[in-house]
Order: sequence, then C-alpha cells, then structure tokens
Amino acid sequence: MKRLKIAIQKSGRLNEKSVELLEHCGLNFENYKSSLISPVSNFPLDILFLRDDDIPEYVEDGIADLGIVGENVINETEVDVAYLQRLGFGKCSLKIAVQNNNSIQELHHLNGKSIATTYPVILEKFLKKHNINAEIRTISGSVEISPGLGLSDAICDLVSTGGTLKSNGLVAFADVMSSEAVLIGSESAQKSELVNELIQRVQSVLRAKETKYVVLNIPKENLPLIVKLLPGVKSPTVVPLAEADWVAVHTVIQEHDFWEKISQLKQAGAQGIVVMPIEKIIL
Ligand code: ATP
Ligand code: MG
Repeated sequence: MKRLKIAIQKSGRLNEKSVELLEHCGLNFENYKSSLISPVSNFPLDILFLRDDDIPEYVEDGIADLGIVGENVINETEVDVAYLQRLGFGKCSLKIAVQNNNSIQELHHLNGKSIATTYPVILEKFLKKHNINAEIRTISGSVEISPGLGLSDAICDLVSTGGTLKSNGLVAFADVMSSEAVLIGSESAQKSELVNELIQRVQSVLRAKETKYVVLNIPKENLPLIVKLLPGVKSPTVVPLAEADWVAVHTVIQEHDFWEKISQLKQAGAQGIVVMPIEKIIL
C-alpha cells in the first residue's frame, strides 16, 4: 500500500503542537530535532519536517499528501490546496501597526506611506481592496524594528499577544487577516481512505480537547433540573449512590461555557463535582 506523507514545521511556533496532535492521534514515530523524515511505525505515514514556507507548495505538488501550516502562509503562497480541518492552535492576526503617537491612525492615512512586511502578497491585496496607495517594503524578518530604524512608516506583521509590538513601541490599528494552523491536503489526498481515517482521528482529538468529563452528586429529586442543563454526548449517565435518594451524574461539558455551566450546576444542588480531561471522543 502507498504510504502517505504529511509535512509539518521542523522547528518554530507550530512544531510542538503539530507533533503533539499527531501523537494524540495514536501515531508512533521518532521525533529527533535532526530528522527530516520520520516513518510512523503503526500507520502507513511518513512525517516530513520542513520550513513552514515550503509546506503549501509541497502539498500543492503532491510531494506531501497532507500538511499542517498557518493560513497566513497558505494565503501568502497563493497555492491551490484543500482545507481539510482547522486545528485550533497557532492563532494569530496579521495587523498593521505604527509607532505610538504616530499621525497614522486610520487606514487612509497610509496613502503615500511605506509599510514593511514579510507578507507582501496578502498586504498588496488588502491595500488594493481598501484603495490605498502605499509602498510595500518586503523584508525577511525582524519587521518590528523597521519604523524605529526609519526604514518604513508602518509595519504589517503577525501578532498574537501583542507583546512584541508593545516592547518595540508600536501600536496596531488595522486587522489584515486572522489565522490559525490548518490541515491541508493535495487534490488526490481528499479521495484517499487513509486520509479520511486520519482526519477522523484528528477530529476526535479536537472534539475531546473542547470538552471535559464531569461527575457530580445530586439529590434524586433535583435530577430533572440537572438533565436540562447537561446535554452529554447523547444524554447524561445517571448512577445510584449507596446513600438512598442520591445519584451520581456523569456527563461532558463544553470548554467554552465550562464555568457558567458549573455555577448553574451548583445552584441546582450539585455537590462533589469532579472534572477530568477527555482523551478522544469517537462519534
Ligand atoms: P520557519 O523556520 O519554519 O520558516 P517561521 O520563522 O517562518 O518558521 P514561526 O515564527 O515559527 O515561523 O511561526 C510559524 C507560524 O506560527 C506562523 O506562520 C503563524 O501561522 C503562527 N503564529 C502564531 N502566533 C504567531 C506570532 N505571534 N508570530 C508569528 N507567528 C505566529
Ligand atoms: Mg517561515
């Protein structure tokens, strides 16, 4: 059987989370910093470790069937690949920023100004869309120091917490795009059974990350109240306790409204609430 290839970042911000995701999918492989390719021993898959800039093209050309890369890199390289799954990590935004107290405060103030970036393709499209005539200065890194050096009036760069901007005396005022890591596939990959199997494993890991397993005790008479609050995967499991008129309820809670749900459960009489992580949810 033909082995699949997946390209992930060799080192950098997406490397660790990409490796972790593949491991949580039950794939066994060596993860030496020096390896360029690592075979998975329990699935017909080889992992290629590459610069993130190269991943979209490897996938477009079919050299790799799959890839994990930031949407920002896909848009910048303008490749034709299929988005198979958003992965929920590597979240950041491409933003336009200027030095504090600068007279550039709105997009149209950029007319006639210069903007340094490592994302000239995305920036050019953005400026065109907003009818702005600015000079794009393409540089290969350390964009945030260019206004201080007098190289440009503004920058267009990736921001997650904003800490780097702040420490360089910069302030962001326009969002160009938001991005996260995505699983991409070549044209042929989408028809492969093995790729489908892998996507399902990825989805079960992501689903589990978004949920927590919760066990709580409740007087039996409060059960209807609790069941209304807790959808579970299908519906909550109810188990009798040794103490008469009390039951234990087992269920899953979504991460996004976790604390709100816990406080509603307490109000409904829940006691001894135990929360556990979930490894996988297979529907
Ligand atoms: P490579 O050596 O592979 O080319 P790189 O230096 O281009 O790496 P990294 O800085 O490791 O790239 O970032 C990889 C990806 O992580 C980015 O393309 C982006 O999608 C995502 N990312 C998340 N937060 C940030 C951030 N604050 N700054 C930059 N990238 C971020
Ligand atoms: Mg790169």
